[in-house]
Order: sequence, then C-alpha cells, then structure tokens
Amino acid sequence: MSTKYVVIIQCDIAHRRCSGFACTNAFYNKDEVFKSYDGDTKNISFTCGGCCGKGIAAKLEHLSKKLKTKSNINNEEVIVHLSSCMTTDNHHYDRCPHVDYIKSIILKKGYKNIIEGSYISKGSEKKRNEGIYNSYT
Ligand code: SF4
Repeated sequence: MSTKYVVIIQCDIAHRRCSGFACTNAFYNKDEVFKSYDGDTKNISFTCGGCCGKGIAAKLEHLSKKLKTKSNINNEEVIVHLSSCMTTDNHHYDRCPHVDYIKSIILKKGYKNIIEGSYISKGSEKKRNEGIYNSYT
C-alpha cells in the first residue's frame, strides 16, 4: 500500500525554539528517511503536546476524524515519523524518555506505521558517531 500521508511528530519542548523548518524541508526534498515517498505524499506536522506525550492521543483522534471526513486516506496509508529531536541525542537534548509510551498511544489510535527520525543534522550525527552524544541505533 502506498504512503499517502506523512505525519511528523515533534517534541513540544524543542518546538518552542524550533519552527520545524528542517524537518519539513527534508520531507519536501525527500532527504534520507523521506526518500521513498513520492511527490504526491502529503505532510502534516504537530507536536506531542508536551510531557509526557499524552496529548498526542487527542491530536491523532482529530487527525483520524479529518482524514475520514475530508479525504479518502485511511490510517494504513499514513506513516508517523517521530522527529529526530524526540528520538536521538541532539543539540536540543537527549532522546525523549517517553518515546515508548508515545509509540504505544500512536499504535492504540490505529497508526501501525511508525518510523523514528526526520531531519538528520550532520553536526549531531557527527557527535553521535564520536560518542559525544548518545546513540540509540
Ligand atoms: S514527551 Fe518527549 S517529545 Fe514530548 S515534550 Fe516531553 S520530552 Fe519532548
């Protein structure tokens, strides 16, 4: 089944100082983790809603409702990307301690396709490779 919608979920704390430009730009440029999506794939980004991530439930319910009433896209055609600011050690801070909990909510809301990562910062990747930042892969 082809991917019709990519949802990027950002860390709410990072979002206070980050517009999300790099992740959206990486999506439209089909960089790295987004390279397999074709030009028709749509994108939406929103935050987890703040610690502990519980707010993502309501946002995904809203998304499901809108996909159903405003499009012909079903949940299986959606891929959820947990942004790099959530899933890696990076210049904002270390990996979110609630990632597994957030994933469990996403699954419970009917979105089975979850990928960790969005825009990959070359600087942060270098520091992960050098052991300055933690690595979780
Ligand atoms: S739950 Fe995780 S991703 Fe969400 S604001 Fe807190 S640290 Fe960031």
